[in-house]
Amino acid sequence: MAKRKIRILGDPVLREKALPVKEIDGQLQQLIDDMAETMYEAKGLGLAANQVGEKLRLFVLDLKQREGSPELLVFINPEIVATEGEIYEEEGCLSIPGYSAKVKRRAKVLVRALDREGKPFEMELEGLGARAVQHELDHLEGILYVDYLSPLKKSLFKRWWKKHKPR
Ligand SMILES: [Zn+2]
Repeated sequence: MAKRKIRILGDPVLREKALPVKEIDGQLQQLIDDMAETMYEAKGLGLAANQVGEKLRLFVLDLKQREGSPELLVFINPEIVATEGEIYEEEGCLSIPGYSAKVKRRAKVLVRALDREGKPFEMELEGLGARAVQHELDHLEGILYVDYLSPLKKSLFKRWWKKHKPR
């Protein structure tokens, strides 16, 4: 396994739409393992493939690592098939280190995807898990959570980022 470099806001790959995964082979599984290692090392909740420079519809999540019982979830070619309710909570992103802001998300989602072996599955998530799935799916569309900020908050964020962007 190898750690990958996490792309930071301003990197054009974060704004590109990821392409469907066509083949789940050893090379893709290597990428998945690398993404997991990169996510754990960065103590992130989730990581999308384009955050490490790969334009593929794939993300990894671990909602339990902070409780000390890691459980890696792999979503290949994910889609949200149903949603319910609304929540407004603080979010952050490994590609925008040091910043967090509240955004509106659906409270519950039903996701359909393929796992690391290519087996289809459906998963219902709520709260933190639902937010994480929506955040990572946005990455695959080239969307970042700061895009949802109000014009005022967005301009404050841009000023903050100018000062705090990692060099
Ligand atoms: Zn993110």
